[in-house]
This record gives sequence, C-alpha cells and structure tokens, in this order.
Amino acid sequence: MTSVQRLWRRSREYLSLKAFRCRRCGEVIYPPKRACPYCGSRDLVEITLPRKGRIITYTVINVPIEGFSKPTIIAVAELGGAKVMAQVVEGAEHLVEDAEVEVVLGKVGRTVEGLEYYMPAFRVVSGKDLKEGDTD
Ligand SMILES: [Zn+2]
Repeated sequence: MTSVQRLWRRSREYLSLKAFRCRRCGEVIYPPKRACPYCGSRDLVEITLPRKGRIITYTVINVPIEGFSKPTIIAVAELGGAKVMAQVVEGAEHLVEDAEVEVVLGKVGRTVEGLEYYMPAFRVVSGKDLKEGDTD
C-alpha cells in the first residue's frame, strides 16, 4: 500500500516494472530481490517487464477490507515471464482467463484517514466482448 508521497518518491521504480533475470537459471524475478529465489544465485541482470500481458487467474473479493472498492478484483498476469499480481481497476466486466491487460497507475484504495493511494494496477484491454482498440 502506498501513499501519494511515497508513490512520488518511488514512482520510477513502481511504474517502470523493473525486474531481474537470473543469469544462472533464466527465471524472471518480480518484484526484484537480491538473490534468485529459484536457484540462490546473485548473478542477476535488471530488465524491464512489458506493460501488457495475459491474465492467468483472478479472484473477486466481495467483502474487501475497508477502503477498497467493492468488489475488489485481484488478478495474476504473466508479463514477460514474470507473474505479477495487481488489482483490476478498469474493464473488470471484460475479465476472463487469458484476457489481455495493461499495467496502469490505479487508485486502489483509501486509508482510514481518507488518503487515496495508488499502485500499479491492471486495465483489461482485450477480453470478453472487448477487442483491443475498443473504447469503453
Ligand atoms: Zn536462478
């Protein structure tokens, strides 16, 4: 969870979708870690994930925690070999397995003090009853 101030300070990191690729085993590591969780190697090279990918799975939370939209939809998408989990903030009505999503800066919730916070989130660009390029 991120306040606007923290987001501003770390915006390049959050929005650039930086990840690592392990030079030993080839796995993509996101979010970045100091060592590969698959083989333990520290021989990592920084890469940038593509902004678009495909939905692997998602879940609908009908009783979200305070401050989140109701329902809250959390999805896992494959972006350039990485599995990225984020909230779906646009186009949820078109969401199906294998739908194409794009990472956007999404307002994902509100703190108990009323501050809105933003994180990378998914917008569905191609899915049920929606072809890429359609506007909704
Ligand atoms: Zn590795």
